[in-house]
Amino acid sequence: MRKYTSRESSMIKNLKKEKPHICYYCRKFITNEEELTVDHKTPLSRGGLTVPDNLVIACKDCNLEKDSMTEDEYYVYLEVKKELGNYNFIIITKINNLLKEQEKILDMYRDLHEEKRLLNYKKMKVLKMITTEHFNAARGYMLARELQNYSLKLIRLDEELIHETSMEELAKYNIMQLNTQKREIFKKLIEAYKNKDEKFKILLKKAM
Ligand SMILES: [Zn+2]
Repeated sequence: MRKYTSRESSMIKNLKKEKPHICYYCRKFITNEEELTVDHKTPLSRGGLTVPDNLVIACKDCNLEKDSMTEDEYYVYLEVKKELGNYNFIIITKINNLLKEQEKILDMYRDLHEEKRLLNYKKMKVLKMITTEHFNAARGYMLARELQNYSLKLIRLDEELIHETSMEELAKYNIMQLNTQKREIFKKLIEAYKNKDEKFKILLKKAM
């Protein structure tokens, strides 16, 4: 995450000076300095800005729980959490966290595939130069070095990409399994809460 500019830092500092300190989300009085945080209603990671409209005082617990959710998403999350009770909610949260981890692994592989695609493109470009250009020895040497460089990098990348049991395949499999589990829990919850209104079902779906 990028650092704040001095203007943004002083904006955050000033907000922390304003009293009384009441958490914007749970309305708790914050008496302990350690509990006092400033939250971005729309997180920086979601395109939020460090501007007065987007900054609120929040207790540490709420801030941690809200994580990268927007304000609206967090309210949905809280509403569903209340309705489902702790037990079901913890299970859903755990599955979602596991899913996030697996998605991160897939992202890493996506980056590696993209790197490979780029390297192959560069390699083909050099190969084309070698076969179509007229060049002197110095340029020829340079092109050969470049070609060797790309080839070595590609070999290393392939080694990373092809394991005996590919982490990527495993992550895909885990995601499939976790999503199946989620669907099953969702079905059970819908059955258990069948007397609830449509709004609840929509919230539940959002939280899942
Ligand atoms: Zn709070």
